[in-house]
Amino acid sequence: MHTLTEEINHLKKERRAIILAHNYEPPEIQDIADITGDSLGLSVDAARLDQPVIVFCGVRFMAESAAILAPGKTVLLPRLECGCGLADMATAHALRSMRRERPEAVVVTYVNSSAEVKAESDICCTSGNAVNVVRSIPEKREIIFVPDRNLGAYVQAQTGRRLILWNGACPVHDAIRAADIIKAREKHPEALVMVHPECRPEVTQLADGVCSTGGMSDFVRQSHAQEFIVATEEGMLYPLRKAHPERIFHPVSQDSPQRMICPDMKMITLKDLRDALKKMEPVITVNPEIADRARSALERMLAVPRN
Ligand code: SF4
Repeated sequence: MHTLTEEINHLKKERRAIILAHNYEPPEIQDIADITGDSLGLSVDAARLDQPVIVFCGVRFMAESAAILAPGKTVLLPRLECGCGLADMATAHALRSMRRERPEAVVVTYVNSSAEVKAESDICCTSGNAVNVVRSIPEKREIIFVPDRNLGAYVQAQTGRRLILWNGACPVHDAIRAADIIKAREKHPEALVMVHPECRPEVTQLADGVCSTGGMSDFVRQSHAQEFIVATEEGMLYPLRKAHPERIFHPVSQDSPQRMICPDMKMITLKDLRDALKKMEPVITVNPEIADRARSALERMLAVPRN
C-alpha cells in the first residue's frame, strides 16, 4: 500500500512533471512541491524548466500565466474551481470600454487577472515590481491601473504619479484594518510589521516594510529583528517559519485567523494532486490569440529593469 506522497512522487517521475506551489498553499502541498514561490516567479520557472508537464498548485490565473509563458507544455491545475476574488473583479469587456474612453492611456495590469484582461493590457506588473513598471512609463502618459485599487494606491504614493484606479481589491487583504496593525503592535511591541501592498493605504502606511510575498523573506533576511507581524494570507507563515526557524512570526489577526485565509488557496489536497497526475487533467489552456497578446504584456513587464 503506497502513501499518497509515494504515489505522487512516482507519477511525477513517470509523467516527467514538475510541481509548483504558491506560498499560500497548505503546508503539505508546499512540502511536496519542487518549487514554491509567488505567482509570477513560478510561471517564469515553468517556462525555464525542461519538464513537459507542470502541475500548478495555486489558482487559475497563475496556471494561465504558466500556460502563456510556457506554450507547448501541459499545465495542470488540480482543482479547476480555484479562482481569485480579485481577478474576478475585472473583465476584458469592461476594460475595453474604459480604454475606449481614454484611448491615450497606458493600461498596467497586475498579474492577478485573467488571461483575457492581460490581453487587453499594455504591460503587466506584480506586487514586487509595480513601482518600477509605472516608473518605466513616460511621465506625460495617463495610466489605468487594473484591477487592485490598493496596490495602485501604494504605487501612486511611491511614484507620485496619479493613476486611474480600477475599483477592485483582494477580499483577504482588503479586510485587514489599521486597528488590526495597532492591536498586533501592542501585543508584540518588539516585532516589525510586514504588510502586503494589496492592503488598504491606511494599513500600508503603518508598516515597517511593504513587501510582496517574495519580498517578505528578503525583508526578514536583511533585518536584525527577532519578531515579525505578517499582514498577508496566513499560508505565508509556513514558508517564513521554514526559512527562518530562529525568528518568530505572528499572524496579523490572531483573534480571528480565519479572516486571513483565502479559501481558493486551500482547496487543493494531496489526493487532488495525485488524481491530476494520474488522469493528466484538468489541463489549463488559453486561446492562442489571447495568449499571444497576454504574453506580450507579460514580456514587456519582464523587460523592465528591477531597480
Ligand atoms: S489571496 Fe486574494 S489575490 Fe490571492 S488568490 Fe486569494 S483572493 Fe486572489
